[in-house]
Amino acid sequence: MIHLKNVNKYFGDNHVLKDINLDIDEGEKVVIIGPSGSGKSTLIRCMNRLEEVSDGVATVYGVDLTQKKAPIQKVRQKVAMVFQNFNLYGHKTVLDNLTLAPIKVQGVNKKQAEETAMKYLERVGLADKASSFPAQLSGGQQQRVAIARALNMHPEVILFDEPTSALDPEMIQEVLDVMIDLSDSNITMVVVTHEMGFARSVADRIIFMDQGSILEQGDPEMFFTQTVNPRAQEFLSKII
Ligand code: ADP
Ligand code: MG
Repeated sequence: MIHLKNVNKYFGDNHVLKDINLDIDEGEKVVIIGPSGSGKSTLIRCMNRLEEVSDGVATVYGVDLTQKKAPIQKVRQKVAMVFQNFNLYGHKTVLDNLTLAPIKVQGVNKKQAEETAMKYLERVGLADKASSFPAQLSGGQQQRVAIARALNMHPEVILFDEPTSALDPEMIQEVLDVMIDLSDSNITMVVVTHEMGFARSVADRIIFMDQGSILEQGDPEMFFTQTVNPRAQEFLSKII
């Protein structure tokens, strides 16, 4: 579904992704960890072309993202993203946040978009907040809205970029619980996070990145017990 081959990314002279090879299967739950600045955000942003790769192959659902004329909207309809800082539209209600893209981008009619929106708000426990504005919600609630908004695009993949890093500690679990609930579904999840309990229970595969390279990967059992790369070991010893 997601196929990256020898992907390199430069910001000016800064070589941020170095020969990344990564294939992610349909329905797979992948957790990406690594120190700040190691290229995690850039890597997942290359999966829906929020960043363009400098060279290499990046194919998502059969669409070659390196082609200037790639049908990028087609990809973005399948690949949703949840950001660290929620990125909700502050001047729109929760319900409007969920229905805007389906109506404008996917051509769904308003009634239908609202119906599915309410279903997803229900699922994240926020149906009663449909007519609130983001600023009236806690950070944890805003992130749950952002996840419901992603779901209302009916994506095949959701990319999560440190979805709990901006939250007060007491709100982290409510967001993780929503993500754990989601992990029961067929949706492909690619999650940058430092939440190792989440990684251990949800991930099919954990990937460790440092300085633009994938240094280690494996299923959680293997990853937490048999990691041999010294930088991965050092990183794990600091966060576990
Ligand atoms: P991580 O998410 O692992 O913290 P990032 O992917 O955000 O790492 O950043 C990797 C490197 O790329 C860092 O050196 C960062 O400064 C640089 N970088 C990220 N985004 C940009 C950008 N838009 N322009 C220039 N440099 C960037
Ligand atoms: Mg990042």
